[in-house]
Amino acid sequence: MGLFDGNKKTCDLCGEKMGLLGGIFSSEDLADGKTICGSCRGKCTPGELKFSAMTLDDVKANIAVAEANKKKGAAEFKATQKIKKGAYRGNDFVDIDANHGWFMNADEKDGWVYSLDDVYYFNLDLDYAPLEEGQGFEVRTEDYPELPKIPQGVRVTDAKLVIWLTDNELAVSKVEIRAAGYSPDEGDIRGAFAAAHDFFLALKDYRASKVPAGKH
Ligand SMILES: [Zn+2]
Repeated sequence: MGLFDGNKKTCDLCGEKMGLLGGIFSSEDLADGKTICGSCRGKCTPGELKFSAMTLDDVKANIAVAEANKKKGAAEFKATQKIKKGAYRGNDFVDIDANHGWFMNADEKDGWVYSLDDVYYFNLDLDYAPLEEGQGFEVRTEDYPELPKIPQGVRVTDAKLVIWLTDNELAVSKVEIRAAGYSPDEGDIRGAFAAAHDFFLALKDYRASKVPAGKH
């Protein structure tokens, strides 16, 4: 008999006993006194869920939303544009389905489908380190007026696209997509700017396509 064998809790959703590996530490206590295990928690949408305010029925409804979203990604999402990143623009970044008005994080290929209509702000988030002798390069930022300028005297050590969303079915407030590789080099950072700019253009095109006839 192990220390925890005597009083293992049971998940109120799947009925499994919650051992140490079964997710007792990642379990969630719900508003109605029920508890779900870490594995059931992992079936929920990826957003910032407040389990302490949710009932078991809320969790079930959330998992149904998550499953429907994943199904949408696998069965209905047809990319009209695959935005690539990297020095040679060969690496997956963001997939756009302009017909449905959807996008997916192609870098992580996690299968979640987000709506372009929910995007209210985005930015290229940059990390910096001091520039050392002989380092440094110029990104032609005038080509990308919507993106941040790289300050003088620094080099970019990381770049990610951050997309903020309004209330949505996945309860995700922002999607972060790696725009540069680890220890990025000059070409990689140029690729990150170009890729983020392509996302900006795709969003712009999508919004323009939705302006009702007669308002042009
Ligand atoms: Zn469970």
